[in-house]
Amino acid sequence: AAKAAGKDQAAVFDVAMRQEQADRIRLLERLRGAVDAAEFAVHYQPIVNLDDARPVAVEALVRWMPPGRSPIGPDLFIPAAEDSGLIVALGEWVLRRACADAAVWHRQWGTTVTVNVSPRQLADPHFTVKALAALRASGLPATALTLEITEGVLVRSGAHAAQALLHLSALRAEGVRVAIDDFGTGYSSLSYLRDLPIDVLKIDRSFMPADDADIRQAVLVRAIVDLAAGLGLTTVAEGVETRYHADLLRDLGCHRAQGYHFARPIPAGDLTDLLSEDAKVQVRPVTADEHSD
Ligand code: C2E
Ligand code: MG
Ligand code: MG
Ligand code: MG
Repeated sequence: AAKAAGKDQAAVFDVAMRQEQADRIRLLERLRGAVDAAEFAVHYQPIVNLDDARPVAVEALVRWMPPGRSPIGPDLFIPAAEDSGLIVALGEWVLRRACADAAVWHRQWGTTVTVNVSPRQLADPHFTVKALAALRASGLPATALTLEITEGVLVRSGAHAAQALLHLSALRAEGVRVAIDDFGTGYSSLSYLRDLPIDVLKIDRSFMPADDADIRQAVLVRAIVDLAAGLGLTTVAEGVETRYHADLLRDLGCHRAQGYHFARPIPAGDLTDLLSEDAKVQVRPVTADEHSD
């Protein structure tokens, strides 16, 4: 009986596996069609200065907008796009769109933009040329663009990490900034903070304390902020959902924050409204110095 049950389980597992594979293939086909049909949109989430809660930057976040259906978040399709290589074309489109949108905001309000870049894009020998072309076509200055990468990209050894390092060094020489996204969740190695071409640390949202009794989390956040400050890096906290988070981070000396407490990702038109509203209530002019990062 035990043997039969095992066999049944194996059969069920097999069916589930085949179903999953079929789902994946269907998703990939739809995704490929969506890239051809340009069924994507870029939404933008404000990143605020913690000193005055003003939006100084925005993160570009891609959404899949299948006609007649609700938008699909990137967590559901970026992994498949990454595995299949579709991310190279999609990522290039996001970068061009984000630079074009941000060029207007930067001209008017000094806003900068951050764009997520996947490992596959950085393995492409043409990435530097494509990124510089996107900047040139949009008129956005290189210094107003930050590229977000995850820890694994540069830490892994081998040809891909070497290629990624070449791109990031070349782009940084042009003034582009580099941020480590989701810091603290990947292959955290302190030596890469010292050695690699980075400018910004984004503290992963999993480090946000639940409340003021959550001392252990606060200790970790403080250690990350101090470490980054000592190395001259800008710190951005992700997943700032409460007033408590914002106050704590400001007290710890974190520079910037991003999260639902301040704003959610929104379409470009809504972001334009938000920035122009902010400019109206602004009590003093933004200095050139603040514009520069
Ligand atoms: P990420 O780069 O870490 O982006 C931050 C994610 O956290 C976004 O999810 C954002 O909506 C969400 N978020 C922001 N504030 C809060 C908050 O207060 N609480 C919580 N719980 N979540 C918050 P989203 O837009 O679903 O994107 C998920 C991930 O997909 C991104 O994580 C990024 O890794 C990837 N992604 C998004 N757009 C692109 C893209 O154009 N290219 C690539 N390669 N990856 C992208
Ligand atoms: Mg990001
Ligand atoms: Mg992140
Ligand atoms: Mg993430």
